[in-house]
Amino acid sequence: MIAGRLHWRETNVKIPGKRGIAAFDFPHGSLLLTESGSKKRASLHVVQGTAALDTLHRGVLEILKATLAEFTTALTRQNRTLKRVLTDPSVFSGIGNAYSDEILHRARLSPLAFTQKLPPEQVKQLYDATQNTLNHWLQRLRERHKGRFPEKVTAFQDGMAVHGRFRQPCPDCGSPVQRIRYASNETNYCATCQTAGRLLADRSLSRLLRSDWPRSLEELSNL
Ligand SMILES: [Zn+2]
Repeated sequence: MIAGRLHWRETNVKIPGKRGIAAFDFPHGSLLLTESGSKKRASLHVVQGTAALDTLHRGVLEILKATLAEFTTALTRQNRTLKRVLTDPSVFSGIGNAYSDEILHRARLSPLAFTQKLPPEQVKQLYDATQNTLNHWLQRLRERHKGRFPEKVTAFQDGMAVHGRFRQPCPDCGSPVQRIRYASNETNYCATCQTAGRLLADRSLSRLLRSDWPRSLEELSNL
């Protein structure tokens, strides 16, 4: 994701010069992989057999197949912020920045709460919110594309509660959606629904921490 996309094209499609990375020709069409943006983080792995494929995601939890116990183990293996662990692809498969914002909003939990300090009832809340949010969006996006190959794929979706909605009203309480900015990313949350009204403001934290102001969520987790 980020800037990588798959497209379905006519067989023997010409690979576009700047964005094109590879095309896979099939009798009934070509699967074209493109990457826009300057960072070029896409990678392709060639493996043979299921066992070889499994080595690529060893230890990563397939979230929709996970039990509450498996989820709890993965979540609390290290004491990190919820935002950081939910978006870590070496812990959970396929959540990412947008859906982690939506999951935390549905769970009514702060993105900066620490995993090992979460009481069991809140871990259950987070597990349920993860399953419900991802299933909700799977169903919605499948309906939207109705068997067609999905084009114009984006992480921002109409109908999201907080992600990409800074300053817009929370659909549940009407409070303006907040943000925490770090590196080239941002986290959106509702202070009323998720942090008992407390603002996780960049400015007050930076005043408190001065030159120790964390530049990334990773640094914030390590404080
Ligand atoms: Zn709210």
